[in-house]
Amino acid sequence: MAKYTGPVCKLCRREAAKLFLKGERCYTDKCSFDRRPYPPGQHGQRRSKFTEYGVRLREKQKVRRIYGVLETQFRGYFKSADRTKGVTGENLLAYLERRLDSVVFRFGFARTRAEARQLVLHRHFLVNGKRVNIPSFLVSPGDVISVREKSNAKEVFSSAVAQSSSRVMPEWIERGTDGKLEGKILTLPVREAITLPIQEQLIVEYYSR
Ligand code: SF4
Repeated sequence: MAKYTGPVCKLCRREAAKLFLKGERCYTDKCSFDRRPYPPGQHGQRRSKFTEYGVRLREKQKVRRIYGVLETQFRGYFKSADRTKGVTGENLLAYLERRLDSVVFRFGFARTRAEARQLVLHRHFLVNGKRVNIPSFLVSPGDVISVREKSNAKEVFSSAVAQSSSRVMPEWIERGTDGKLEGKILTLPVREAITLPIQEQLIVEYYSR
């Protein structure tokens, strides 16, 4: 499974937005985007004006990078969203949110989506009691996601849970009480729960050109 392995702060600078790809660091004054809010590279500080196509392309790239999905798979999500009843842009975001790595991040069991992806690949999670190591696995309402008993004591989980305590949990999921590393999917993701500045209509227009 391919993934982007380059410097992630450059992605925020390229997309001219904070994508929160580095966990805690994104909220400190070490954030590269806060310090250098212009595109990376020798000519990054030159003023550039995007064409209509450029604006749509950048929006698509931004969302792809937030969720850590490569182009082919992202296009696949778009096709599925287009075939699904409802608003295509919202369906697309719902597909991305339903990925197991994204849900693990939402529950606060990982500091970033990239870390969540790695933890899933390393077989630390169960879905309805069965081990699942596919980051793109799509969860459904009623599914219960839990950390394997053997992995419960790992420092990575306690530190992630501590760091995510201030994060707002979307209403479509519910985390286990009493410190249990477990959570349940209540409904399908709702658009209002995605607070990042995303204009999904631009992505629809990008793929519909
Ligand atoms: Fe983006 Fe700043 Fe986080 Fe780096 S630290 S990933 S620039 S938000």
